[in-house]
Amino acid sequence: MASHEAGFMTRALHAEGHTKPKNAHSVPIFQTSTFYFDTPEHGADLFAGKQKGYIYTRIGNPTVEAYEQVVASLEGAEEAVAFSSGLAAIFATLMSRLKAGDHVLSGDTLYGPTVNQIGELMGRYGIESTFVDTSDLAAVKRELRPNTRVLFLETPANPTCRITEIGAISPLAHEVGVEVVVDATFATPYFLRPLEWGADVSIHSTTKFINGHGDVVGGIVSASAELAKRIRKFRTDAGASPSPMDAFLSLRGVRTLAMRMERHNANALVVAEFVRDHPKVRRMYFHGLPEDPGHAAADREMSGYGATFSFEMRDGFDAARALLTGIKMMTLAVSLGTLDTLIQHPASMTHAAVPEAIMRQQGLTPEMVRIHVGLENVEDIIADLRQAFAGI
Ligand SMILES: *Cc1c(COP(=O)(O)O)cnc(C)c1O
Repeated sequence: MASHEAGFMTRALHAEGHTKPKNAHSVPIFQTSTFYFDTPEHGADLFAGKQKGYIYTRIGNPTVEAYEQVVASLEGAEEAVAFSSGLAAIFATLMSRLKAGDHVLSGDTLYGPTVNQIGELMGRYGIESTFVDTSDLAAVKRELRPNTRVLFLETPANPTCRITEIGAISPLAHEVGVEVVVDATFATPYFLRPLEWGADVSIHSTTKFINGHGDVVGGIVSASAELAKRIRKFRTDAGASPSPMDAFLSLRGVRTLAMRMERHNANALVVAEFVRDHPKVRRMYFHGLPEDPGHAAADREMSGYGATFSFEMRDGFDAARALLTGIKMMTLAVSLGTLDTLIQHPASMTHAAVPEAIMRQQGLTPEMVRIHVGLENVEDIIADLRQAFAGI
């Protein structure tokens, strides 16, 4: 196995070690639901935890574990636990900690379905939640309650790219025994490793950059061995394990995260400047630009910005719709982290189910467009945007 001192790219290629059967070079897809026991005693020992080994794929699978080991190494975590989706990863992390009567304090700018999971679904089981601007430390301090157990936030937040400094907020939470959970999907472990800054749990929707090829829905949680044990047990009990095939594809994807992120990031900065300077654009939301309010904070904890940003059209919703109608090369689709460029309209798409009051609190407007900048030649992305803007 690659030691912890090895570089990011080396760990991406070697962290799962030389544990492959029959000297296979790539980690095989263990496409099996169950595993046979050598003897009845062997089976009993596995169930009793007296021996390490595989029993049943919902509980553990070698392809899934190889993938978890690589992500844990890239995050600088003791362990990682993979899930069948990003939302399943968030649910297991929160619900394995919370019970009826507990309170979760959450960032007020989040992926739309996460808002519903915390506010509505968990609310039905007696879990209280409030939403706060986590970039405002005084507000967070005010909103912590005696029954707060978890502080949950996204940085950079979806879709407005608001930045929360994990190193500043974590001590506030830890002082009162509150666990800090960070969804860092927009940043990836290549640019931001939340545990290094004091977070207890780092979560990714691996559907996005970690798999990176737009062909898997998945999630992963990185944490200390102790927290990972709690979260893994919830995964097994809730049945939210990923398939071996998806783990195989995600492992293949994460191997090249470093190179993809370098180019995504470089392309995004060029495209963001073009969009910012366009007369039909009123406002940018991207921490990668020096004038953004989150830029300095991003620079303190992140080594790059990612490739997803939002902007508001000067002439409102109709102009946003006309832009999306006019694109030719880019793909009109939700999600991000794919190899190619995606463009979408948060208010009617990813965030459509968010209650209106929270949408307003998030600063999510009808004229906002979100773009994920892909790996195409950057001139071609700009050419497509230029012609789409011209057609409005
Ligand atoms: C997509 C996304 C999720 C949800 O992940 P799924 O894999 O779709 O379940 C959570 N958080 C963020 C920031 C996302 O972009």
